[in-house]
Amino acid sequence: MEKIKMNTPLVEMDGDEMTRILWQWIKDILLTPYIDLKTEYYDLGLKHRDDTNDKVTFDSAEATKKYGVAVKCATITPNAERVTEYNLKEMWKSPNGTIRAILDGTVFRAPIIVKGITPYVPNWKKPITIARHAYGDMYRNTESLIGAGSKAELLITDKAGNETRLPVNDFENTGGIVQGIHNTDESIAGFAKACFIYALDSKQDLWFATKDTISKTYDRRFRDIFEEIYQKEYKAKFDEAGLWYFYTLIDDAVARVVRSEGGYIWACKNYDGDVMSDMVASAFGSLAMMTSVLVSPSGAYEYEAAHGTVQAHYYKHLDGQKTSTNSVATIFAWTGALRKRGELDGNAALCAFADKLERATLQTIEEGVMTGDLAALSTIPNKKVVYAEDFLLEINKRIS
Ligand code: NAP
Ligand code: MG
Repeated sequence: MEKIKMNTPLVEMDGDEMTRILWQWIKDILLTPYIDLKTEYYDLGLKHRDDTNDKVTFDSAEATKKYGVAVKCATITPNAERVTEYNLKEMWKSPNGTIRAILDGTVFRAPIIVKGITPYVPNWKKPITIARHAYGDMYRNTESLIGAGSKAELLITDKAGNETRLPVNDFENTGGIVQGIHNTDESIAGFAKACFIYALDSKQDLWFATKDTISKTYDRRFRDIFEEIYQKEYKAKFDEAGLWYFYTLIDDAVARVVRSEGGYIWACKNYDGDVMSDMVASAFGSLAMMTSVLVSPSGAYEYEAAHGTVQAHYYKHLDGQKTSTNSVATIFAWTGALRKRGELDGNAALCAFADKLERATLQTIEEGVMTGDLAALSTIPNKKVVYAEDFLLEINKRIS
């Protein structure tokens, strides 16, 4: 069989530990036999990040801007133990944080749905994709304890030096707490654009919710910026695609989400997204079945699995033991990136291969062949638990 050609490279970001092992196996068993894989390779493994003083992470993000599509393996975010373990020069920052900042991107997290694994909310038939605004609000706050008898005010100094003072509270008889939070029009607009782009791209409705009945200026600003950008730049495209942009209050959204059958994107403010993404992920069953894509407002895409490097499995692997690590989310990161590359380049064969590989992966699980983590969840009879590498070989048998 002739291999599928690629016109433009993908940015490939290699990573750490067990997922780095899976990465190579996926390429060897499921990709390079079928595709003349063209990637611009960046090694984000911790050792190489340290060797390059983390320059490789910045370079990989710049390359993503240039080529528009990247696929990333899970990477270690160093803490004190990792500094010792890898003898690091510095406690380097989270690569995901660095890449997100450079691309000014929004992360969309979606579960992979497979027969035999029923969500804890049984009416959820289709994925619910959460988009979290990853800037500002409580995550960039200034806060303080306040002593009794103190007064808290908001002081705003404009360009010309004029001061406006707004009362927050008079702590006359009791102490308390105060918090200053902010967001920017630019960041909210970037978030809104990424959401509209991704909704069109994935052909799903977009829901957005805040608490603008209570927060009449702060949350209202989010609502207004979304509405303005929607009307100006996206309404016609949504109409044409038969899609719906829907704004409601956050508490109403939560109630509707629970009753829904899924199949839409739920855009959340920073804190709502933090909480709801963990809720939705657990309700759909497994972190190992969760994909993640970072979308920049300029339309660059970076695909990855939502889980980490599966450290415990890696130590077993180093010890010579076989592990039953789940590679599904990492496979779907590759298929997402290959399909997007195919769409941008008009390479139908590449898109078709991505579809085929996803189907073969799901078919394998639905026929009862799966890794241990899924076997613990699946209700399919006669399950067969396989090692990570054997799971990939089983998928390969089903690619046709
Ligand atoms: P993790 O790698 O996601 O693993 C946590 C546990 O979840 C594992 O021990 C395993 O449970 C289970 N698990 C996760 N993915 C699995 C898979 N594909 N197959 C089977 N089981 C899976 O999270 P972590 O242990 O907190 O973090 C490890 C490293 O990953 C850290 O250095 C962290 O910085 C990094 N990390 C990176 C990213 C990223 O690059 N996007 C995200 C999160 C964490 P059992 O042990 O019970 O089998
Ligand atoms: Mg969280």
